[in-house]
Amino acid sequence: MKQLELLYEGKSKQIYATDNAQNVIISFKDDATAFYNIKRAKIEHKGKMNCAISSMTLAYLNEHGVATHFIEQVDDNGQLCRVVEHVALEVIVRNVIAGSMAKRLGLEEGIVPENTIFDICLRDAELGDPLINDHHAVAMGIATYEELETIYQTSAKINALLVELYRKAGITLVDFKIEFGHDDKGCLVLADELTPDTCRLWDTQTHERLDKDRFRRDLGRVREAYEEVANRLRDALK
Ligand code: UDP
Repeated sequence: MKQLELLYEGKSKQIYATDNAQNVIISFKDDATAFYNIKRAKIEHKGKMNCAISSMTLAYLNEHGVATHFIEQVDDNGQLCRVVEHVALEVIVRNVIAGSMAKRLGLEEGIVPENTIFDICLRDAELGDPLINDHHAVAMGIATYEELETIYQTSAKINALLVELYRKAGITLVDFKIEFGHDDKGCLVLADELTPDTCRLWDTQTHERLDKDRFRRDLGRVREAYEEVANRLRDALK
């Protein structure tokens, strides 16, 4: 497998073609951005840490029967992944109230609801990835009701597996964002990163934040928190 030309560069990742048209290499950058690029910084080794965290997590999901785009980690920053056709949705799964949900509904962060909460957002940065519902998604031709049902069921399975993995690491999985795609056979696959950039991760004992909120909210020790997650996941997977 050969890495070829750069196909796309986003805020935190680059995507390269390979000599196999079915596969790409996704390379994680050290850049951190928040609030739609208003806040920016470089965090030393973030790309490497996120690549390691996402690779461990996606390999774990593959092994536990969740189809993902991840094939293998190819170097410190890069993952070989299958090309998929992205669904224009972001799915947010919430086990603990935090972030935009707390703000929007005037709730205290840290409340643990009895049910798991699933939000869907339109994947459109210009519109600010607005929260939508199933009927909007169907009306816009993004997914059928049946496909949405599969997306919710798969998201619930991913959540159960990740909660268990992070529990072993002494970390509470507060919430996370995922995206899906369809592979060449039309099967739904998880096609996203799973890192402290896209998950809220709180130390279970101290509730210390080990995720991007350290950057968003100027809490300091961002690199150390990501390192802590990588090390604890490595131990939990032993
Ligand atoms: N998230 C993400 N990308 C987005 C929006 C949210 O990865 O464009 C993640 C975020 O890191 C958190 C979860 O999804 O783990 C829920 O985010 P929320 O809706 O609370 O928004 P935020 O407070 O991050 O603006």
